[in-house]
Amino acid sequence: MLFVLFILCMALVITGCPHDENSEGSSAALIIISMDGFRWDYFDKTDTPNFDKLIDGGSRAAALIPSFPSKTFPNHITIVTGRYPENHGIIANRMYDPIFDKYYYIGQGSAPVLDGKWYDAEPIWVTAEKQNQTAMTMFWPISEAEIMGVRPSEYFVYDGSVSHNDRVDQLLKWLDYPSTKRPRFMSTYFSHLDNIGHRYGPDSEEVKSAIREMDRTIGRLVNGLKSREIFQKVNIILVSDHGMATTSSDSMIFLDDYINMDNVSVVDWTPVAAIRPKGDVEPIYEKLKNAHPKMSIYKKGKAPARLHYNNHRRIQPITAVADEHWSISTREYFNEGDHNEGLGQATHGYDPIYPSMGGVFVGHGPAFKSGLSGPGITNIHLYEMMCKILGLTPAENDGNIDSTRVFLSQ
Ligand code: AMP
Ligand code: ZN
Ligand code: ZN
Repeated sequence: MLFVLFILCMALVITGCPHDENSEGSSAALIIISMDGFRWDYFDKTDTPNFDKLIDGGSRAAALIPSFPSKTFPNHITIVTGRYPENHGIIANRMYDPIFDKYYYIGQGSAPVLDGKWYDAEPIWVTAEKQNQTAMTMFWPISEAEIMGVRPSEYFVYDGSVSHNDRVDQLLKWLDYPSTKRPRFMSTYFSHLDNIGHRYGPDSEEVKSAIREMDRTIGRLVNGLKSREIFQKVNIILVSDHGMATTSSDSMIFLDDYINMDNVSVVDWTPVAAIRPKGDVEPIYEKLKNAHPKMSIYKKGKAPARLHYNNHRRIQPITAVADEHWSISTREYFNEGDHNEGLGQATHGYDPIYPSMGGVFVGHGPAFKSGLSGPGITNIHLYEMMCKILGLTPAENDGNIDSTRVFLSQ
């Protein structure tokens, strides 16, 4: 009997783990892909054979509703932490922190992005690494920073010049690693549609062509997975951080029509302006509060509860929020040089209540139902969902698993 057991054990040692990590539903790899600024209705704007394959074989939400403000960093970080911006600390793309006495800003080469002290919540790759799963990121906002002492096992500092194909090929390369090194969690990120959307507007031919370019890029991934015979075994989540709404030089709100700009410092501009009075808040607030019918003014702590935008030291004493299609600027800046052109054709950042701010959510693979078209969901719930798919115990967050259960196969 002992001899039989010994033979059985030896057989296990020789053949390795009976569960190949990429071939079992419960331990399949998860890839999350973000297409910045990909609005919920973009799939229907042009031919997208590869997106269609993922949607038809998987689950799709009517929209992925962003958190406020509907900007890139606040929402990418909400997606991977399950926390509202006021709880993860990145309440804008540009911020001032009164304790650090420092500014945060995004963009290639940004030093603060790399500094983990700015982040108050745990991203999914940190949760994974802490629980002995391997995470690798081919770009995702803040995945290049050390957070809570942890980094993805492999990661890249953001460089927008890396081609779309190279990003996909890196994911495939990671999937070719031997099972002991192979990541369970992977991410990648594409800014292409956001750039084109700002520049030409969401209804332009250029946006349609950018959608087709992203479709080809996803097709390359799908083909790579198919040639490895793992397309049905890997979980893929396709998301975006926000949508896009047209703007116009006829829909401008000029702060210098109402206040003396020497009395304030404006940390971030449009469509959500973060205003720091240099002296008393009250006189500035009084001048701004009913200044323009297309601009809401919130004194700190008084923003509507549904925006979850009250409780962080980086939220400034006055927040001005433009209505959809409107922009906040100053007459001085607008009239100077070509700045009105620099504003572009479209933007985001607006109240998530506008359908135009909605992004996308598609899930494909063993964790997801096939052929399901579900309701819109708020992006705070994706962290819990990813933890469930990966078998991780989630850190504290603002989401719940019930909100995404409809998309999951079990
Ligand atoms: P937004 O200005 O809100 O439309 O944000 C989009 C921009 O965010 C992109 O065009 C990039 O320049 C920037 N971005 C994206 N990922 C990163 C990153 N990991 N580090 C720094 N900047 C980034
Ligand atoms: Zn974005
Ligand atoms: Zn953008």
